[in-house]
Amino acid sequence: MSADPVADLPDGLHLAICGSGSPLPDPKRGNPCVAVIAGRRVFVVDAGERASETLNRMGIDPGGIEAVLLTHFHSDHIGGLGSLAIQRWVAQGSRGRMRIIGPPGVERVVTGYNEAFALDNGYRTAHHGEEIAPSETAGMTAEPFDFPEGADSTIVLDDGGLKITAFRVDHSPAEPAVGFRFDYEGRSLVISGDTSYSPVLVEAAAGADLLVHDALSPELTKLVEDAASAAGLTARAKIFADIPDYHASPVQAADAAREAGVHALALTHIVPPLPLKSLEGPFLGDARERFSGPLWIAQDGDLYSLSAGGGLDRSTMFGRGPGS
Ligand SMILES: [Zn+2]
Ligand SMILES: [Zn+2]
Repeated sequence: MSADPVADLPDGLHLAICGSGSPLPDPKRGNPCVAVIAGRRVFVVDAGERASETLNRMGIDPGGIEAVLLTHFHSDHIGGLGSLAIQRWVAQGSRGRMRIIGPPGVERVVTGYNEAFALDNGYRTAHHGEEIAPSETAGMTAEPFDFPEGADSTIVLDDGGLKITAFRVDHSPAEPAVGFRFDYEGRSLVISGDTSYSPVLVEAAAGADLLVHDALSPELTKLVEDAASAAGLTARAKIFADIPDYHASPVQAADAAREAGVHALALTHIVPPLPLKSLEGPFLGDARERFSGPLWIAQDGDLYSLSAGGGLDRSTMFGRGPGS
């Protein structure tokens, strides 16, 4: 346990999983959320429900979040923004409104959240005072980016030795949808966002130390669809029949990792939920035969550390924080 586990990390690039699940109810996995720590700078990519709870369990202080980046606007990726903004706002040392960097559409999400939480923000300022809950820094601010004409990628941040590149992915009809690549101190990691197999991602992820990729098992999802049909749950069966076309399978994620020449692969956005360890083999299918590097099914609390000197360590952040 440490007062600030982030400060204890070695210099380098670190990725912590604050939500490895999907919109489907999953007692083991929160909705999608990834924290990236570059040196002492903390970014959060997507903030689904339970994001702030899981970040706190990992000892990552919401007050230290420099910006949130959104890959797209499905509910499971934005549903935790409200509570995260509140926690960051009242945390000691937080500065300014919470920056939300995303493709076009991010302005609507932020405007809606600010309106939905306006009354609550006012109550908290009235209750705790301007010093703890300053009205001028309540809520979020949108920072949209777009791709130059004909381009599939664009740099959204480049300072202090850190470069963040956004690239298009294919999650149609959810449009726009992007992934992000972080480069810092010679280390690199890539977050796919939600996507089917994407040649743009393969190019953007070239040579990265770590790829964190969306994964849905078509075989297990079909079993869930069949069970829903047999139970007469036609709406649920239709949803399970629809979703495999806009998420990559574990095998496709492994193919993307191999083709991109990345060092290691972590699968996230796990669909369907895997309540038993024995389901992990069927979930992966032939993925391990398609990618020879380290391959993990991500879990909430995971920490992947790419220290500036080299190497890749996997551990858990759970139990490191002052509240644990
Ligand atoms: Zn999703
Ligand atoms: Zn999605």
